[in-house]
Amino acid sequence: MDACKSFAKDSDIEDLICKTPREKLTQYDGKRNPEFPAFLREHKAQPLSFVGSGVTWIRPTSLAGAFEALSQPRSRVVVANTGTGIYKNETAAVLVDIGRVPELLQVSVGDGGLTVGASVSLAKFVDLLRATVAKQSADKVASFDHLARHVLRIANVHVRHMGSIGGNLAMAKTKDFLSDLATILLGASATVTLATKQGARNVSMVEFLESDKFNTGEIIQSITVPFTKQGDVFSTYKTAIRPQNAHAFVNAAFNVGIDGKGVISHAELAFGGTGHHEPGVHTGRAVRAPQTEKALVGKQLSNTTLREAIKALESEVQPTGDRAAFRQRLVSGFLFKFLVGLLGGENKEVKESTVSASVNSTHTKRPHIKGQQAYKIGDNPHGPVATALPKY
Ligand SMILES: Cc1cc2nc3c(=O)[nH]c(=O)nc-3n(C[C@H](O)[C@H](O)[C@H](O)COP(=O)(O)OP(=O)(O)OC[C@H]3O[C@@H](n4cnc5c(N)ncnc54)[C@H](O)[C@@H]3O)c2cc1C
Repeated sequence: MDACKSFAKDSDIEDLICKTPREKLTQYDGKRNPEFPAFLREHKAQPLSFVGSGVTWIRPTSLAGAFEALSQPRSRVVVANTGTGIYKNETAAVLVDIGRVPELLQVSVGDGGLTVGASVSLAKFVDLLRATVAKQSADKVASFDHLARHVLRIANVHVRHMGSIGGNLAMAKTKDFLSDLATILLGASATVTLATKQGARNVSMVEFLESDKFNTGEIIQSITVPFTKQGDVFSTYKTAIRPQNAHAFVNAAFNVGIDGKGVISHAELAFGGTGHHEPGVHTGRAVRAPQTEKALVGKQLSNTTLREAIKALESEVQPTGDRAAFRQRLVSGFLFKFLVGLLGGENKEVKESTVSASVNSTHTKRPHIKGQQAYKIGDNPHGPVATALPKY
């Protein structure tokens, strides 16, 4: 503690950081919740640069500044750097921290959907999805709450508050990382804006994941989650060793449109983790299942369609390597759950006992566990303490 104090003994935090006179701070009177000072909220980050042994860390505060820093040899972008928890040997001579670049923190809601800057954290992304649900009509945001609940199953509280959506997607693209975010955004038909010094371009998630390399000098600027259309049904799935802080064995996200006559008008089926796994190494690029989608589109929602779709899926998506048979069953199981859920609704094509299979355990809200036990304590005022209890 003394050592820490010694660093600050001749400094005044307001003078140092905000150049704000003390009078601007209202004294805490203990009667109400303390307020975060408004002038600190408006505090603008300054560009910073530190040279360490073998690595230089640069924090630009504009996109142009970021591209200038990235033009140095052996440079790479970084936001929260949580990726090193997974890829420990990643090195660079220049780390360009893009966590404070305003262009990469922008958020907007337009006709096309919700656009979120790449440096926004996973936790903030959840808040933004939920805030949009509160403001838009239900048919436009049918996927948003499912997406939010799935993101809450990524990593843990700390990683979600620091780790960025761009960092997650970049690992999915360049390292075959088994990303939950990539799978669910693929299922939701999200688009990605990629920026270079020269300008920006939009690509679909399918195009984004097609190649494992960025074009030279390119970074992710933002992602757009499109609004759903009337009649769309969306859901996501994940099976992992634990509910949180565990990578998926397999994950999935489905979006299916059903018209007024019960005919499937479009289907987007996305799966992650369906490639080759080595024991303990979960990799897997998120992929769509176009043959299975074809088996669904234009068909009446029915038991026959369900059976045909599962058959198509089993020949189209075949995981190999570690726990291949288990992962294959998860793949079919996820689609079965989803379609049974649709059939069990208005069509009543499936038996009541089978409909329960559609309950999405990925997002089940479990109540707190309670227990109650009754003891007869008779006349003993201190019972059941010191009361002999017969053991049956
Ligand atoms: C303990 C732990 C558990 C996790 N569990 C899960 C999980 O269950 N599911 C899941 O999906 N993910 C999981 N993750 C991954 C986590 O979501 C990512 O580590 C995080 O989102 C990355 O964000 P970051 O800001 O830390 O990226 P960084 O570590 O800073 O960057 C990661 C990579 O992306 C590059 N990069 C960053 N931003 C951009 C950009 N805008 N454009 C181009 N490249 C960029 C960097 O150069 C680097 O190569 C887990 C991570 C940890 C550490």
